[in-house]
This record gives sequence, structure tokens and C-alpha cells, in this order.
Amino acid sequence: MADGTDHRQLQHTHGSEWVRYCPRCGGGLENRRVDAEQRLRKVCSACGFVFYLNPKVVAAAVPRQGPGIWLVRRDIEPSRGLWTFPGGYVDLGETVPEAAVREAYEETRLDIRLDGLLGVYSYAGADVVMVVYRAAVVGGTAGPTPESREVRLFDPGDIPWGELAFPSTRDALGDYVGLEAPPPGALKISVGKE
Ligand SMILES: [Zn+2]
Repeated sequence: MADGTDHRQLQHTHGSEWVRYCPRCGGGLENRRVDAEQRLRKVCSACGFVFYLNPKVVAAAVPRQGPGIWLVRRDIEPSRGLWTFPGGYVDLGETVPEAAVREAYEETRLDIRLDGLLGVYSYAGADVVMVVYRAAVVGGTAGPTPESREVRLFDPGDIPWGELAFPSTRDALGDYVGLEAPPPGALKISVGKE
């Protein structure tokens, strides 16, 4: 970016004021009310294109191996140096499960098989929707990657709760532990967040 701002950081900027130009014609965008909608939208002053701003979808997985789970220590912003499970943005043309498997490999070098949905996590004021799966490791050799300075197998009792990267990390791992910890017959089933 000409102003020295990291583009990846822009994707995490809340609100819509960072969007200034029409992607179709380059005209200036202005805040305008669109028919039958409650909130102001970014509308091109030249061609009328409505630039809808929506949260981005992040696909993630908690990879299980034996009693442990693999977490990664991030080596990129935001939350560099903190722990989370592997995940990342879904690419256009890709399914959410495909993205979860791809991101797990990119960030851990582990091959995983998804076992089911752990939860969907979204927050007021946040610009991503997290879709988190439970998964099993089926191959690969864990190791650091350009995005993960460390990849480590944690016993669920040793999750570094004070060094987690995001609120969704905490909430999803809490749900994961809740699913695993209760005795048989007392499982809490959690699909998504209310
Ligand atoms: Zn335009």
C-alpha cells in the first residue's frame, strides 16, 4: 500500500470507511440509503454500483491426535505470537470444508479429516465469521510454517488459555473441551453460538 499499511491489516479493520473507490469504474463511493434497506450503503457516485460489505468467512479446524489437539503459534499479525488452531479465509470457488483442510496443511503440515462441525462463531463489530470443525489427523508431519512459528500438541488440560489469539479461539476451544470432558451420556451438544 502506498501509505505503508499492511493490506492484511485492512481486512481486519472494522467498519466500512476504508472503502473509498468503486471496484467497477473507480468512481468515488458515498454513503447512501438503498431502497428498502435500513442502513447506509457504499454507493458509487458515478455508476450506481452498490458495494455491499460483508463479513469474510474463516474456515478452521481443531485437529485431534490421540488425547491431544494441535495448536499453532502465529507468526503473522494479528495476534502474532499467540496460540490458535489452524484456519484461514475461504477462497472463492472453494467449499468451507476444503478450506479448513487446506489451511490446516498450510499452517501445520498435517493432513486432517473433518469429523463434524464444532461451532460457528461471530461477534458484533467483528468482520469475520468463523466456521470451526472437529478433525482427526490422518497424515503428515507437524512443523513450523511461514505463518506458524511453532506447532505443538497440547493435552486438553494444558490449553494455554491466557495466550490465545482471538475470542473465537477461546470460545471454540471451550466448546471443544466441553464436548470431550463430560462423562459418556452427559455430552453437551453445541452447534453454533446463540
Ligand atoms: Zn462505479
